[in-house]
Amino acid sequence: MSETQERVALVTGGSRGIGRAVAELLAVRGHHVAVNYVSNQDAAEEVVAAIEGVGGIATAVQADVGDEAAVAGLVENVESTLGPVAVLINNAGITRDDLILRMKPDAWDQVIATNLRSVYLCSKAVMRGMLRARWGRIVSLSSVAGVYGNAGQANYSAAKAGIIGLTKALSKEVGSRGITVNAVAPGFIATDMTAALGEAAADAVVDKITLGRLGSPQEVAAAVGYLASDDASYITGQTIVVDGGLTL
Ligand code: NAP
Repeated sequence: MSETQERVALVTGGSRGIGRAVAELLAVRGHHVAVNYVSNQDAAEEVVAAIEGVGGIATAVQADVGDEAAVAGLVENVESTLGPVAVLINNAGITRDDLILRMKPDAWDQVIATNLRSVYLCSKAVMRGMLRARWGRIVSLSSVAGVYGNAGQANYSAAKAGIIGLTKALSKEVGSRGITVNAVAPGFIATDMTAALGEAAADAVVDKITLGRLGSPQEVAAAVGYLASDDASYITGQTIVVDGGLTL
């Protein structure tokens, strides 16, 4: 398959932030894009309209990616409307931050389900199609929190570290079938997720970033898009850190 062919890409959490930037990039490259969201239908429809506005093809699909039945429905829906998924971007994510002594089991479970269980469920759900095609790209959004750990984010750090282990294991299971599995670990990116932390928190982090500024969703999307492309055909099981030098 050449890069500009009409590969189907499923972007979980494609309605906002990094997921939106990835969806738009893949659409510009000729992919037919399923924009998944959980509750924000207007935002997802806006992404679809933006893609269609530049001549691309996209559809919005609601599903909670932490839920097994919902993921099965999501992939069925995408495959019947667009075709088999060739590129899966596991991007949907949430935070429920607290110090561990105060962290409720619900906050643990929700973060693990949305950020990690989802990667297992979605990767499994698209796998048969990729195996049949003997070609596939899976790129999952980890985080520097998963590589180095963040105080107040034990649940999120565990989920994001879990993605790195899952990525390595799955890459070994499917590598002989033309499927690559990689992760991207962003640092501090300007999206709704980090806006929720407030300006003071952002200013404190900026002081530690080598490049002296937050990253943009498009700068993360560039790395995701590379790993999802034919150019990255000999890269698998890896995690690329995109953090402006935050963790140097
Ligand atoms: P964001 O702006 O908060 O957007 C989150 C996206 O995930 C939205 O599209 C949301 O859909 C979707 N979502 C949330 N829960 C979902 C669920 N249960 N099922 C399906 N979709 C769900 O997030 P972001 O900052 O772009 O982050 C994207 C990814 O990068 C996440 O995995 C995050 O952990 C990771 N990351 C972000 C940063 C950063 O600095 N921003 C750093 C490291 C890693 P709705 O619009 O319907 O709510």
